[in-house]
Amino acid sequence: TSQTALAPLEFAVTRNASAKTDQERDALLADPVFGTVFTDHMVQITWTEAQGWHDATVQPYAALSLDPAAAVLHYGQEIFEGIKAYRHADGSIHTFRPDQNARRLQRSAHRLALPELPVDAFVQSLRELIAIDGAWVPGGDDQSLYLRPFMFASEPFLGVRPAHEVSYLVIASPVGAYFKGGAKPVSIWLSQDYARAGKGGTGAAKTGGNYAASLLPQAEAYEQGCDQVVFLDENHNVEELGGMNIVFVRKDGTLVTPASDSILAGITRSSLLELARDRGHAVQERPVSIDEWRQGVASGDIVEAFACGTAAVVAPIGTLKGHDFVDVQPLGELALSLREELTDVQYGRREDRHGWLVRL
Ligand code: PMP
Repeated sequence: TSQTALAPLEFAVTRNASAKTDQERDALLADPVFGTVFTDHMVQITWTEAQGWHDATVQPYAALSLDPAAAVLHYGQEIFEGIKAYRHADGSIHTFRPDQNARRLQRSAHRLALPELPVDAFVQSLRELIAIDGAWVPGGDDQSLYLRPFMFASEPFLGVRPAHEVSYLVIASPVGAYFKGGAKPVSIWLSQDYARAGKGGTGAAKTGGNYAASLLPQAEAYEQGCDQVVFLDENHNVEELGGMNIVFVRKDGTLVTPASDSILAGITRSSLLELARDRGHAVQERPVSIDEWRQGVASGDIVEAFACGTAAVVAPIGTLKGHDFVDVQPLGELALSLREELTDVQYGRREDRHGWLVRL
């Protein structure tokens, strides 16, 4: 029932009386540090067992009041998304494949026993926030407004069952280039002692617990002098990084990326692979073992490896480090060339052949 079309929601709008001035906002937009600055407003929609989705609002960005028994605080029934709004040279604001994020939020909702928000309501929620906070979409090189839709069990109840009351919100945070001074190669720590997800678990859902599980191995990566951590499954197949997918490029131009039921299906990855297919590259989605990766680099069969996701777009992998080895990775041209093509589409500098952009 939750997937059937819903009449457009009526959003009740309350303006923030203490919204930032133009000057204050411009100062914050100059060089924002990822995830630290938030816009003046937020969207909230409530779901109850009895009423479904209702009470859609745009309201001043503010702290939430949550009952200490709210189920999310105890059992982690929570999901989220990450998507950006881009300002084009003519001033217009666009987002990228929001239907894909909406569907992924529905898949996450299904796995976490949360209600599915209709695709149209998801896109509408982004539009409502941009309508009031559009001035927060920065226009500088590689800048964007990161949108964070999320949903959680707000019902005050300590029984272990799907909540009967759920909140969906959208907040927004201006972000600059993820890597200052260009996409420099990242070093990756191979997590051999900790997994992120297991067979039949929640790895394919974008849910807070997966990220909580990645924090200790990520701390281990930092201790080892690495930027990011890569996870394996129980059969020693490569899964993904803590917040990015991974792609390998073979000598013959084939792109290979892990197929797995326990990774997040990235929209950046699927878009980059589509652009590569357009250029005539073969693409394989199949299990890739850690041995295949290491041996492929040693033999010269793998000529590039890169990570990809909404926040950083593309990050070439410079080294892979484990408990008893350091493999220097070959660097090629393809990762950065695909990155440029994708960002050119997102920022309106190149024709949007696939119809991926949606004007907000
Ligand atoms: N894997 C994980 C675990 C992630 O958190 C993300 C970021 N959403 C990705 C992959 C990349 O997904 P996307 O390209 O849709 O941002």
